[in-house]
Amino acid sequence: MGPVLRQALLAVSKSERAERVISTLPLTRDVVRRYVADDVGAVIDELTRRGLLVTVDHLGEEVTDPAQAANTVREYLSLLDLLPAGADVSVKLTALGLRLSEQLALDHAAAICRAAADKNVTVTFDAEEHDTIPGLHSVHAALRREHPDVGVVVQAYLPESLERCEKLGGARVRLCKGAYTAPGAYTKDADIDRSFVRCLKVLMAGTGYPMVATHDPRLVRIASTLAVLSGRDVTGFEYQMLYGVRPDEQARLAGLGAQMRVYVPYGADWYAYLMRRLAERPRNLTFFLRSLLSR
Ligand code: FAD
Repeated sequence: MGPVLRQALLAVSKSERAERVISTLPLTRDVVRRYVADDVGAVIDELTRRGLLVTVDHLGEEVTDPAQAANTVREYLSLLDLLPAGADVSVKLTALGLRLSEQLALDHAAAICRAAADKNVTVTFDAEEHDTIPGLHSVHAALRREHPDVGVVVQAYLPESLERCEKLGGARVRLCKGAYTAPGAYTKDADIDRSFVRCLKVLMAGTGYPMVATHDPRLVRIASTLAVLSGRDVTGFEYQMLYGVRPDEQARLAGLGAQMRVYVPYGADWYAYLMRRLAERPRNLTFFLRSLLSR
């Protein structure tokens, strides 16, 4: 997508006014349903039955009220009851109050990690806007002392991502391209892809557990080659893709015996998530507008 349109959509993703308008459009429900689980329990059951792993995200972010942050914890604790052992939950620290205080987010995150460990479920902390990245890594480092398998996301569009991967030796790391904007970030596809591959090489050669989060066929091929070259078998890393994006490819990789985890978002607070998905791909926007015109 042209950088201008992408920037515009990402700006719209943060606009409360646009959210009010877009959320009330009658078409929106259909588009939301493509990317957001309506009945999360049923979606988890169906994906698990088909041999796919899941990481489940209770939608919500940028919380500025301590009561809302506490509510996010409650949502995750009830979600854990639905999940099979081996599942993962994806958590945004800004939904746990990172904007209010790092300590608050850490305390909430620790409560989720403890409850998840009791159920044999892992926790991965999503990477959000660039100004939250230092807080993300500081919370992740603190949690790793008690929960060595807690995961964190690295965004390849950040030039510092390579150094970050080198420092995260031994950790569960989800590598993605990056869905926001950041000053100094790579913006050209070729630069982001090159950074992704550099990070992937470090993660695959390291002692941690790489989670390769991309729908990009070329990067999927490179990941599988690097895994073989690094002597990792299919249990030594996993692919991750978003619910609703390239489901055939998800099934194909799982059919080959690879660990394929689907990121399943659910909940009422879907607006910013949906706008980021539209910003990723022009065809999605066409699909959205076509649904609008066909009403
Ligand atoms: P792209 O070059 O964007 O896409 C490659 C191909 O995939 C496209 O040509 C198209 O065929 C298909 N495709 C990609 N996106 C879509 C879409 N929305 N709809 C339909 N088809 C599509 N970003 C963060 O900043 N922080 C996170 O914590 C984070 N977690 C993620 C977790 C998972 C499991 C995944 C898969 C992505 C996550 N992302 C996160 C988003 C990521 O950063 C990218 O914005 C997104 O994955 C698109 O990049 P891509 O690697 O798929 O490559």
